[in-house]
Amino acid sequence: MTRRVSILGATGSIGQNTIDLIARDPDAYAVVALTGGNNIARLAADAIRLKAQVAVTAHDSCLEPLRAALAGTGIEAAAGAEAICEAAARPADWVMSAIVGAAGLAPGLKVLEQGAALALANKESMVCAGPLVMATARKHGGTVLPVDSEHSAVFQALIGEEMSAVERVIITASGGAFRDWPLEQLRNATPAQAATHPNWVMGQRITIDSASMFNKALELIETREFFGLEPGQIEAVVHPESLIHALVGFRDGALMAHVGPSDMRHAIGFALHYPERRDLPVERLDLVRIGQLSFRAPDETRWPALRLAREVMAAGGLAGAVFNAAKERSLDAFIAGRLGFLQMAEVVEEVLTMQSAQNGLIDAEVSLDNVLAADHFARKTADKLIERAPRG
Ligand code: NAD
Ligand code: MG
Repeated sequence: MTRRVSILGATGSIGQNTIDLIARDPDAYAVVALTGGNNIARLAADAIRLKAQVAVTAHDSCLEPLRAALAGTGIEAAAGAEAICEAAARPADWVMSAIVGAAGLAPGLKVLEQGAALALANKESMVCAGPLVMATARKHGGTVLPVDSEHSAVFQALIGEEMSAVERVIITASGGAFRDWPLEQLRNATPAQAATHPNWVMGQRITIDSASMFNKALELIETREFFGLEPGQIEAVVHPESLIHALVGFRDGALMAHVGPSDMRHAIGFALHYPERRDLPVERLDLVRIGQLSFRAPDETRWPALRLAREVMAAGGLAGAVFNAAKERSLDAFIAGRLGFLQMAEVVEEVLTMQSAQNGLIDAEVSLDNVLAADHFARKTADKLIERAPRG
């Protein structure tokens, strides 16, 4: 039976890995929608190759080039955030959520509202609005499948287990580009230096977030939301080889580790075929050649984002939405050369402090409107702080 699939964020790193798997078995899938940004050549070429119904660009200014590229193919073209939500609402069985940032939340909710399976790479959805995402899935009979490698690993280790048997979850971190840099050099780290990852090939934003550990901070919160754990049950450990993705600790002292190659097609393929396991084109690990796996405690002076994640988990409510939005703006400013590497965490911390002084914001219900309001507040506040931040 052909499965109807859509890919949100199809032109990105996760989107392209998803297309790689789907394109290997074209008869098994009917592609409904592909969405992207300004890489119109990629979006159009994939839409034509996969015979999609509709291709959507996030940018209104890219609509004409997209129309031109799809002329005569019968594939619809559309543009803008609303058009992405409409594409996400088109009937499908399985949808990959691989937009980067909070922009992925609203379309992901549309997927769940139609009762489909949402393969969630977009961790920001869980950080901003975990309770809303899970409640929407429950209400409409949708399923959320983790695609972040750590969360896929935890999910796999939990198959057949009761949550009441789980004592703790440990997610691993490679340590990113600056794992071994002297602390005093970090201040002057450039975006180009931060955007090289030792083990994974990923989009620019998540790669820089790996160097600052904001990625791991988001993932600690994502772990809490996905699996309903208490903050004290979740740990991050530095594991430079990136071969163990996560471990689940059970009450009898057992640790179940998920070991696999640093290739996102494993987690994507697991979510695509769940609950079955099928052949995937990933490397089979040679443990003898690898020889050793090592672990270190994460240093919170080097990576203050981890401490901030704990504060966000303790606060709950809309703190995740504020944290993520302040991080997104700080990252934009770092990439643009307007903020130093270490200043990103300083801005985020200050926005969190200012938020706790805002009456009612933190405790408000996690609804889409409230999440968007918290996101807006955090972006505005972060922008003001970035404007005033000392340079150099
Ligand atoms: P990427 O930058 O390579 O791709 C992002 C995609 O989102 C592109 O298609 C882009 O056009 C689209 N996009 C960007 N801004 C948008 C907006 N405002 N509205 C609509 N579309 C927009 O990113 P990526 O590395 O593929 O990551 C995608 C998501 O998956 C992120 O949430 C990331 O944290 C998560 N993730 C990625 C990896 C990885 O290996 N790359 C691993 C785990 C989790
Ligand atoms: Mg991850």
